[in-house]
Amino acid sequence: MDKAFDKREGWIWMNGSFVPWQNATSHIITQGLHYASAVFEGERAYNGKIFKSEEHTKRLFKSAKIIGMTIPYSEEEINAAKNNLVAKMNYADCYVRPVVWRGSQQMGLSTSRADINVAIAAWDDWASYYKLEDKLSGLKLITSPWKRPAPDTAPYEAKASGPYIICTMSKEYAEKKGYHDALMLDYRGYVAEGTGANIFFIKGNNIHTPIPDCFLNGITRQTVIELVRDKGLNLTERHILPDEINGYEEAFLTGTAAEITPIKSIDAITYNTGNNTATYKLMNDFTNLVKSSL
Ligand code: PMP
Repeated sequence: MDKAFDKREGWIWMNGSFVPWQNATSHIITQGLHYASAVFEGERAYNGKIFKSEEHTKRLFKSAKIIGMTIPYSEEEINAAKNNLVAKMNYADCYVRPVVWRGSQQMGLSTSRADINVAIAAWDDWASYYKLEDKLSGLKLITSPWKRPAPDTAPYEAKASGPYIICTMSKEYAEKKGYHDALMLDYRGYVAEGTGANIFFIKGNNIHTPIPDCFLNGITRQTVIELVRDKGLNLTERHILPDEINGYEEAFLTGTAAEITPIKSIDAITYNTGNNTATYKLMNDFTNLVKSSL
């Protein structure tokens, strides 16, 4: 069993300075906890350098702005804090988690006097978000009964904590039924994404992925789109119906934590996996890309 996160050692950057890991606490009466007034990021460092660090910081600020929070630091200060943290923790490869939340100054839904807090933590035991053997052999997904909400129902462009309960419930539904993860449809019934990752489908030289019009347009998704276009493959963003997904040979998830992870099946539909697949080649290209951007 991994060590609980509140029992670990090291440093956390919190509201402007480094504090010992176990001292980075917040009071139980906190707006962020009670009403999900929070946004966060998920990033990865490879060989000590955070991949697309500035893009993640920009998204953090955008997420905060969408839900009405002003981060009391500059983007440069956050970028420097992230780099200093990775160095201070002595990590080569790690996961980096900035989080911004409304604190304890005020309770209730009013935000007029709310204090804004920022913390950044990093850990190195998410080398693979999914178990390595599952990542190699492919994931089993089940369609979730929970849907991605309409754009006027939830702030889909913000990596905001609130909407993550839909992902958590979907993930729990899948795991309880013996699957690795869930496929979420959107409010219209189109294929949307995984619980913490975007989704792609492959048939021959054609790669299709849903249009991110009600879910996060992941930074990994954007990176993979550039990668496949550079390789001369045909990339199409389109609305995909669930009964179309049996027309593909391969499928995979993309995300900072998931990187590129092959899918073995969605419900009763199975996909090709293994060393001879296009997905496998893309995984190698992606690894080369993230390790070379140093
Ligand atoms: N969708 C959801 C719901 C996610 O949590 C994530 C992970 N942040 C993604 C997509 C992929 O985003 P990214 O590639 O920027 O990590």
